[in-house]
Parts: sequence; C-alpha cells; structure tokens
Amino acid sequence: MAEHESLEFGKADFVLLDNVSLEEFLANLKLRFEKGRIYSYIGEVVVSVNPYRAMNIYGRDTIEQYKGRELYERPPHLFAIADAAYKAMKRRNKDTCIVISGESGAGKTEASKYIMQYIAAITNPSQRAEVERVKNMLLKSNCVLEAFGNAKTNRNDNSSRFGKYMDINFDFKGDPIGGHINNYLLEKVGRVVHAREEQRMQGDVTKTSVAMFFLADFKAVADAMKVIGFTTEEIHTVYKILATILHLGNLKFGNDGDVTLIENSKLVAVLGELLSTKEENVEKALLYRTVATGRDVIDKQHTDQEASYGRDALAKAIYERLFCWIVGRINDIIEVKNYDARIHGKNTVIGVLDIYGFEIFQNNSFEQFCINYCNEKLQQLFIQLVLKQEQEEYQREGIPWKHIDYFNNQIIVDLVELQHKGIFSVLDEACMNVGKVTDEMFLQALNSKLAKHAHYTSRKLSPTDKSLEFDRDFRIRHYAGDVVYSVLGFIDKNKDTLFQDFKRLLYNSSNPVLKAMWPEGKLSITEVTKRPLTAATLFKNSMISLVENLASKEPYYVRCIKPNDVKSPLLFEYERCKHQVEYLGLLENVRVRRAGFANRQTYPRFLQRYKMISEFTWPNHDLPSDREAVKRLLQGCGFEHDVAYGKTKVFIRTPRTIFSLEEQRAEMV
Ligand code: ADP
Ligand code: MG
Repeated sequence: MAEHESLEFGKADFVLLDNVSLEEFLANLKLRFEKGRIYSYIGEVVVSVNPYRAMNIYGRDTIEQYKGRELYERPPHLFAIADAAYKAMKRRNKDTCIVISGESGAGKTEASKYIMQYIAAITNPSQRAEVERVKNMLLKSNCVLEAFGNAKTNRNDNSSRFGKYMDINFDFKGDPIGGHINNYLLEKVGRVVHAREEQRMQGDVTKTSVAMFFLADFKAVADAMKVIGFTTEEIHTVYKILATILHLGNLKFGNDGDVTLIENSKLVAVLGELLSTKEENVEKALLYRTVATGRDVIDKQHTDQEASYGRDALAKAIYERLFCWIVGRINDIIEVKNYDARIHGKNTVIGVLDIYGFEIFQNNSFEQFCINYCNEKLQQLFIQLVLKQEQEEYQREGIPWKHIDYFNNQIIVDLVELQHKGIFSVLDEACMNVGKVTDEMFLQALNSKLAKHAHYTSRKLSPTDKSLEFDRDFRIRHYAGDVVYSVLGFIDKNKDTLFQDFKRLLYNSSNPVLKAMWPEGKLSITEVTKRPLTAATLFKNSMISLVENLASKEPYYVRCIKPNDVKSPLLFEYERCKHQVEYLGLLENVRVRRAGFANRQTYPRFLQRYKMISEFTWPNHDLPSDREAVKRLLQGCGFEHDVAYGKTKVFIRTPRTIFSLEEQRAEMV
C-alpha cells in the first residue's frame, strides 16, 4: 500500500497531480519510468511506458497478487485492468472490452498478450487444456497477422498499420471457449505500392516489401498457419499470392507508337502460372479494360500510365484480399462452435482492441487522416461513457453534478463525418465528378465549404500562415492538437479503383482458394452497375460499427508510450514522450477523470470492507442505516470533503482517500 503514496516513485495515479499540466505529467511519467514503474493510472486508465527490458512483473506470483483484487489495492498493472474486465464480465454477466492504443512499438501487442496470459491463468484449472488451446490459437493468429502487419522495408518504417479487434468468448463459468478477430487495415493504401515507388526511385525495382518479407521468412509463418489449421493447399496459395505481388512489382510498361506493351513480358507467363490462369488472360487484363458503350462491349487499350496504375491497384487489392481471407479463415477456425446459450447460459465477451493512437508525421496524408478520425471517435466514446454515464448515475443517486471543464470533441467528429458537410462527404463528392478531378480541386471544395469551421484552416483561408502550403495543405485542430494534412493522393486513395477486368481474371482462376477470394469477379461488365463504396465511406462505416460495438461493452483503457526510438531501457526522450502524451490526449483524460468520482460502492459493500476502521461500525453498527454508518465512519477519518452520499452508494472523489482507507484497514486486519 505504501507504494501508492510514496513520492519516491512519483504519483501512481495522474489524477492526483497537483496541477494538470504537460510539465507535471511528464515529470511524473519520467520519474516513474526511471524507478522502473512502467505502469500508472489515470483513474481506471492504465498508462504504460515500454521498458525495453524484461521486467519481472508478469509471473505466477504477480498474477496471484492481482487475482480478484480491486484496482486500487495493488500498484498499477495491466493485470489489474484485466482482472477488472474479467470480474465485471463474470460477476455481472457484462461484455467488456479493453482498448489499447499507442504508436508503433509502444507495447500494444505485448500488452494484449499479457492480458490474455492473465485471463488464461485465472480461469478454471480443470478446463486449462481447452483454455490453453483457445489462447494458443489466438496467440498464433496474432503471430500470423503481426507478420503481415510488421512487414516493412528498412527505410519505410512509418507505414500505417492500423488496428485489430479481438473478441474472446467465455462460457457461463467464465472459461474461454473461442474468439473472433476483426482487422482494420489501412496499409493497403500505402504499404504495398509505396515501398516500391520509393525503391524504384533509388533504381532498385526488385523488392516489394510485404512479399519480400514473407518469402524470406515464410517458414515461421507457414508453421503457425499449419498449427492454426490452414491446409497445405491454402498455405501454398498464400505463398503464390505473395510471389505474385513481388512479380507485379517488377512489371514494366512501355509503348511502341500507339501500342502499350509489357517490357519484361516473360514475367507474364510466371504470373499466369502463379495465378493458375492463362498467360494471355493476364496480359489482356494488364493492357486492356473492357468497357460497355451502350449495347456494345469493347476492349479499350490502357496507356502505359493507366496500365501502371492498374498494376499497382492490383497488387494492393491482392494483398488486401489475401489478408481479409486469412482473417476470415482464422475466424472460421477459432469461432465458438456448438455453444447453445439455452443449455449453457449466456456467452459473454471480453474484447481487446489494439489500435494506433494519433498519428502525426512530417507528411500526413489520407491514412493519418483516417487514423486520427478514428481517435476522435474513440475519444468521443470515452467522453460519453465517462461523463454521460457518470452524470446519469449521479442523477439517479441524487448527487449534484459539478461541472468541470473539458473539451467535447463532437464538433471535430462532425467536421469529418457529417453527411453532406463533412470532409469525407466533400471528398466523396469530388470523387463522384466525371472527368479529371485533382487533389487541388478537392482542397478548393473543402475551403469553400469549411471556411467558417473553427477547427479547419488552410493557407487560402489564412494567407499569412506560412506553415501551410498554398494548394496542398489543410490543418485540423484535433482534440489532441493541430495536424497538417497534405491533400496529395486523397482522390486516388479514396477512389481506390480496381478495374473489373482484374476481378474477373482472378475469379476465373482454376485455383479454388484464389477464386473464392474474388466472388464479385463473377459479374460481367454489363452487370456491373453499382459504383463501389469509396475508401472513406468504407472506413467511416467500419468506425461507426466499431464504436457501436465498443459502446455496448464496458470499456477499459490502456495507453502505451514509446520512450525512445532506439529501444533503450534507459532513455526517456522528453520531446518524444511529450508528443505522445499530447497526441494520446492524456491531459484530457486526466481532466475528464477528475470531473468524476474515482470510486463508488454500495453502503453494505463499503461497510463490509472497512467497518473495522471505526469503533462505530465494528463489529456491527446500531445506526439507523448503513448510509448513516458509512457517514459516521468517514467523518471519523476526516474524509467528509472528499465524498458524496448517494441514495444507495457512497462516492469518493480521489483515489488518495481509498488508498488511505486501505492502509488503515491493513493495519487492523
Ligand atoms: P506495438 O504492438 O505497440 O507496435 P509491441 O508490443 O510489439 O509494440 O512492442 C515492441 C517491442 O517492445 C517488443 O517486441 C518488446 O521488445 C518491447 N516491449 C513492449 N512491451 C514490453 C514489456 N511490457 N516488457 C518488456 N518489453 C516490452
Ligand atoms: Mg503491435
């Protein structure tokens, strides 16, 4: 208990800071990191700093210390959050979720593993074998998906992987019985093609990052896939698809007068082989596009530029389809089977969301825009859950609500997603125009629609602002700070067109696994009427359903911070950390948390735990109600100023009071 209060380790809970300022926050974070205290709280939110060294805090003995305890009874730890989520699920039959955010390398995936490990360790030993199987399955799947996500070139480290959501299903006894994974993938837009463009500029056209990574290191991934239950044929197909991406990367187009050609046409045969389709079909799909003009269907030749565009789009689409297919297969295998709720009782869920925090690079594009929008949505959820629910509970309990200032970011969510007016709508509209639409035209449309918006600026609207480029940049004032986005690429990335010819090509493959990935290739050109949804719309829809899903659960949060870029266990790079504290919105978290009460308990429960502290309540009280008894007890301790008495519960504002009660209790028992 002393650990909570001892200033030697800094403040275990940022809610206890004397002033909510960036400086104080960082000073405390740094002190704790240097003392080897990698976890802290903001109320019930865990803040974690990657230690970059093995910590002796995840063993069996530590697990025992946290098992069944309340959050404030032990030093901050992931296990405490995992236990809280598990307890809420088991005791109250509630679905819960744990949202883990932070930038690449901040420790999100490690955190999700420790959480799973904890849950596996505390579940029923008689079922351990089955629990272990499910857990292993989830971890192995993680490894396969991570392998995809982690693929990167030496240079291009900032590719935007994005997020993963995993449900663990439990039976009525609280034992894991299966799971489900959802992936939110963004790198399709950047990774596969970008890396190659970069390398091409260096005169090296031999690599495509993702495929290279796999072909070099495929055995480990293939083994994991085998364990999960992929068939040999499936694994082979994955291998062939990766090789396809690699070869597509080497394909070059040129022209001979009016005719567009493939310069290294030998590759086409290889592609035909890999895709189990005829060489001439591959060539045709690469060089022509079938278009319907009235009743006629004609083959229109691509220019070499169009052909290059098509090739890149194909590589991206194949990668994305493959990825989605792998996720789908994993889900088939790990999904709960033969569970009949009528017989076995309600099946409950703990969801774990491993997701990028605010992202801001030197050059921020469509991907960063999407990720940052996602973070605005998550922040809005956080605000709603913490503040609105609190407010409702206070009303129920008859406690006056004291307004505390915090920023409600709904206005920014609207700026991005509002129908007809939001940035996504403006973008979709621009993409719908016939004829050539440029990114600059999109920026003009934004400027004319959003000129008055308090959170939007561009150089056009603010001509003296030299930090923005005139026909390229716009700036959003996010809840966590300002981010400048370049519009370059927005239109293409949003349209994300893949010629129907490619879909048909792949659907007609004689490889059944590959064919199954391209069901819409069945349609002929005259049947294709609907415009595919844009990337922005798809993304927006997936975010809305993600947030709905999270909102239906009781959420817990872990915020991960990467202390330096050199994987050092000693270095706390101040500026680096400051940046993350800002962009993770941690100060806002503290403010929002301070707006409420740290702890609440029903009167009987409170007495059960603390009645030994006071002579009025030990061993039993003779006051007219438990409420009166709790009042008497707290008066005796001098905590009157820090509590409020509701109809059924006592509310305690700061964790410090709880720590102190715990300490007094420890002295008595
Ligand atoms: P992210 O998923 O956020 O990109 P990871 O969880 O993969 O980051 O962590 C990156 C690396 O940092 C890990 O491979 C590990 O070496 C180190 N690391 C992260 N968390 C811890 C931890 N709790 N203890 C020790 N090392 C850690
Ligand atoms: Mg990760």
